[in-house]
Amino acid sequence: MIASAAGTGVPATLSPDEAARVPWSTIVIGSGPAGTAVAIRLARAGRRILLVDRESMPRPKVCGCCLSSRALVELRGLGCATDDRGRLLGAMPLDRVRLVAAARTVTLPLPVGGTLSRESLDAALVRTAIAAGAAWLPWSHVTGVAEPCGPPPCVTVTCRAAAGAVFSLRADCAVIATGLADHVRVPGSAPRTIEPGSRIGVGTTLAASSIDLPTGELVMAIGRGGYCGIVRLEDGRIDVAAAVDRRQLAASETIGAAVAEVLREAAGPAPWVSAVRAALADAAMQATPPLTRSAGTMAGFYGRVLRVGDAAGYVEPFTGEGMGWALTGGRLAAEALLTASSPATAYGRSFTAFARRHHRRCRRLATALRHPRLVGAAIRVAAVTPTVAAALVPMLVGMTTLSGEPSP
Ligand SMILES: Cc1cc2nc3c(=O)[nH]c(=O)nc-3n(C[C@H](O)[C@H](O)[C@H](O)COP(=O)(O)OP(=O)(O)OC[C@H]3O[C@@H](n4cnc5c(N)ncnc54)[C@H](O)[C@@H]3O)c2cc1C
Repeated sequence: MIASAAGTGVPATLSPDEAARVPWSTIVIGSGPAGTAVAIRLARAGRRILLVDRESMPRPKVCGCCLSSRALVELRGLGCATDDRGRLLGAMPLDRVRLVAAARTVTLPLPVGGTLSRESLDAALVRTAIAAGAAWLPWSHVTGVAEPCGPPPCVTVTCRAAAGAVFSLRADCAVIATGLADHVRVPGSAPRTIEPGSRIGVGTTLAASSIDLPTGELVMAIGRGGYCGIVRLEDGRIDVAAAVDRRQLAASETIGAAVAEVLREAAGPAPWVSAVRAALADAAMQATPPLTRSAGTMAGFYGRVLRVGDAAGYVEPFTGEGMGWALTGGRLAAEALLTASSPATAYGRSFTAFARRHHRRCRRLATALRHPRLVGAAIRVAAVTPTVAAALVPMLVGMTTLSGEPSP
């Protein structure tokens, strides 16, 4: 069975006590795109899978909510359903990006893309995992994974339930898909690295009427202290997601004020900036840890604990590729766990080969974006030179061809 998007909450399929009695094949920690991509594939292959999250579904998440061509391909590969209008999980088509920097603007067509709230997407993926046979345990915060040495080979996952009770789970292996949060301790892991000067992700959703923004258009505003994406979601709400310098955050009274300042730097005194500023003043903002980081694809000593998605490594989000990377990483980890004699080595190789050049391109772009005047000049040229505009699109939104096909 295949799930569709959104709907109401996704109830647990078992209790912590029941989960503690089962010897699982794999425990997947974190139910974002990376964790669910692993869980769905392993469950469909007949493995006993437990999907655990410290929150329940649906839940908000700081994200631009734009689905890249790669994300769309991976979601189709997981068997996600289209609605009666042919929209994958009900995602709205995204057909243009309005770039704004140094008070200059250009609107570029996008060959392919969609927008879908993280509430809808992640809940649909968890439902798909349950339909595939995975057990689902929300409200369970994992604090550590231990790999006792010697036979039988297994890992012990320590969890804290929402009410505070601590319980342990057992499995042959574990997959850490906890995103940028870094609270799962695994003895023997190499330390993660966070890039100096890494920006912080912040975001919120605003009421549908808060600004006049057509569906299908993504606004990307680039200022000195960061950049911000604004898009209308499938349910009409406005998603605001930004990467902001820590200095800019520290100098602002609120997170919303820091984002409003990025927009002012980018667009000047435009009426839409005032509208967003007013809406942000009352909005509940969420923030992430520093964004650009690397932690490696394996945790611990023995190759029984893998890291996938943002938990393995991430680069600033301007191109909106993170979910596509996470879904791809989840697929590569599942393929390794199902077929390789040494899954950790096989997954490490395949993911590193995949991620290296995408991360490198995004790092270069992140460096260029720290010079908004340069971006403003590029926008001025793109506005009058269609060939320059056409060359900018794949680079900016993470597509490798204008037809929208993702590279391998
Ligand atoms: C500002 C911003 C804008 C972005 N815009 C886009 C965009 O437009 N398009 C795009 O594709 N990507 C975008 N991204 C990136 C995208 O959000 C991430 O790359 C993607 O969500 C990574 O998926 P994941 O499954 O690795 O982690 P997540 O989606 O973060 O999921 C991790 C899950 O793990 C759970 N968890 C965490 N710790 C624990 C624990 N200790 N125990 C149990 N559960 C735990 C969390 O509750 C969460 O459900 C953006 C990111 C930011 C910050």
